[in-house]
Amino acid sequence: MILEIRNLSASVEDKQILKDVNLKIGGGEIHALMGPNGAGKSTLGNVLIGHPDYKITGGQIILDGKDITYATPEERARAGLFLAFQSPVAVEGVRISTFLRIAYSHLHPDEKIVISEFNKRIKEAMKTVGLDESFISRSVNDGFSGGERKRFEILQMLILKPKMIILDEIDSGLDVDALRMVAEQLKKYFSKDVGYLIITHYQRILKDIEPQFVHVLVNGTIAINGDKSLSDKIEENGYDWLKEVA
Ligand code: ADP
Ligand code: MG
Ligand code: MG
Repeated sequence: MILEIRNLSASVEDKQILKDVNLKIGGGEIHALMGPNGAGKSTLGNVLIGHPDYKITGGQIILDGKDITYATPEERARAGLFLAFQSPVAVEGVRISTFLRIAYSHLHPDEKIVISEFNKRIKEAMKTVGLDESFISRSVNDGFSGGERKRFEILQMLILKPKMIILDEIDSGLDVDALRMVAEQLKKYFSKDVGYLIITHYQRILKDIEPQFVHVLVNGTIAINGDKSLSDKIEENGYDWLKEVA
């Protein structure tokens, strides 16, 4: 699986946010996208999954050679793309079990789901991500703490089995144990068929799950590409030195 982002530009509410972003993420690759607040990191994630509030003003998104620039969110998900949201929203009245079953059946239409078995799978995954089994009958994110929402994002990944995974600040607001769990699950799920784009301000999570590639977004454009040493440099020096480069 290869995700190619070519000269991608996008606006929200008529404000140009992304300008000529280029990225290429292959299966078996871990990429980190860093950058200061407001740089456009979440915008990129939203544009990639086809969020309707974000308008593409130029460029292309190619997944495995197929142009998905204007594909619907459902088509992108079916093609294997997944975004763990920075701020997952509550969906009142929709149970986790129902939500996951519907999502799964859209992504894997040929598989017959036996509800009892599927729910068992969810409960096992809940144990893995540290959510109590009772969550299975709760509404999606409704009344969840910040940490519980992030755990539920990882649970969705484990159940839905996407291939190209964008994690938007999956580390923010997590305590040390939750962070360790997230890194552990990401490492366990990783394979030559899976690509990660880990969006983060901080270097902390990148110590547990080491990216081969680091990109820094400043002012809606990639200011610099590098390897792990680039994130170390940012930890030491912050982002200000890059604002002049961008
Ligand atoms: P980051 O994730 O890097 O902190 P964002 O992508 O969230 O940055 O935001 C980039 C810019 O786009 C900000 O100025 C933000 O206010 C604006 N923006 C993002 N989403 C929306 C939206 N839905 N409506 C209006 N402005 C938005
Ligand atoms: Mg932010
Ligand atoms: Mg963000």
